[in-house]
Amino acid sequence: MSEALLEVKSLKVQFPVEAGPLTRSKDFVRAVDDVSFSIEPGETVGLVGESGCGKTTLGRAVIRLVEPTAGQVIFEGQDLARLKGAALRAQRRKFQMIFQDPYASLNPRARVENIIGEALDIHHLAPNSTARRQRVESLLKDVGLDPSHAHRYPHEFSGGQRQRIGIARALAVEPKLIVCDEPVSALDVSVQAQIVNLLRDLQQEHGIAYLFVAHDLAVVRHISRRILVMYLGRIVETGEARAVCQSPRHPYTQALISAVPVVDPNSKRQRIILAGDVPSPIHPPAGCPFHPRCPVAEARCKTEVPALRETAPGRRVACHLAK
Ligand code: SF4
Repeated sequence: MSEALLEVKSLKVQFPVEAGPLTRSKDFVRAVDDVSFSIEPGETVGLVGESGCGKTTLGRAVIRLVEPTAGQVIFEGQDLARLKGAALRAQRRKFQMIFQDPYASLNPRARVENIIGEALDIHHLAPNSTARRQRVESLLKDVGLDPSHAHRYPHEFSGGQRQRIGIARALAVEPKLIVCDEPVSALDVSVQAQIVNLLRDLQQEHGIAYLFVAHDLAVVRHISRRILVMYLGRIVETGEARAVCQSPRHPYTQALISAVPVVDPNSKRQRIILAGDVPSPIHPPAGCPFHPRCPVAEARCKTEVPALRETAPGRRVACHLAK
């Protein structure tokens, strides 16, 4: 294993809940609850789970768009939580984010040349206007867009093209890590594959690491080397993407995998339908947080929290029954 680019240690993110008729003032949403993982340079780690499981908050906390409540985020050996001012700004250039809704994340009143150029201006990466224009054109070419369209506005592009503009903006500052937050879920299926392939090509060319956040396991499996499965703010299973998808150990991962469509008409795989909804992260269940929906729960699951333990080299599962 090479040295980690990013190490997340025991990270917690909690949000206070406004007091109301049915809530106490001391309540907190436990969005991220004691999460640890690492990403190597040039690696893609997929983060998957249902909506509301905390994965977007985790992605944002990693790049300090959200302040962690506890824990460490160590990037290139430096704890980001302790950095301030110029030192934090210098590190910020090295991690970027691509957002789910490419239209909402682009200023509708700015031309593409300025949306991308602004990132160059903030970090003083273009010494003059000619260098700025050339760099913007080169970035547009890198993401498969026509450089002569640099003067256009976001509404003049399709959804897929707008996501390419978002990727060009992230690439402008030559980051080492990009958090991709559901980057294809708002796009047509045919366009999704193009964007995923583009991200992969750019990774090979520039050696960028990705934290790829998505609810769609089929997409995550396609691009990731390793996968983190998240449920109610916690990681419940991690491992090599192929191993996790071929032989999921945690009952929640098994349910997610069973929902991925299969092309083979002779496949005997049965869909596992989980009972009930995801419990509230304000009052998560005691014991294993998955126990109210788990089809194989035992009595101890209601009281004993399962540790995320290694079941095989590179494989960790938070379930009392996992082998
Ligand atoms: Fe299910 Fe128990 Fe395993 Fe939790 S610990 S996933 S409830 S079997």
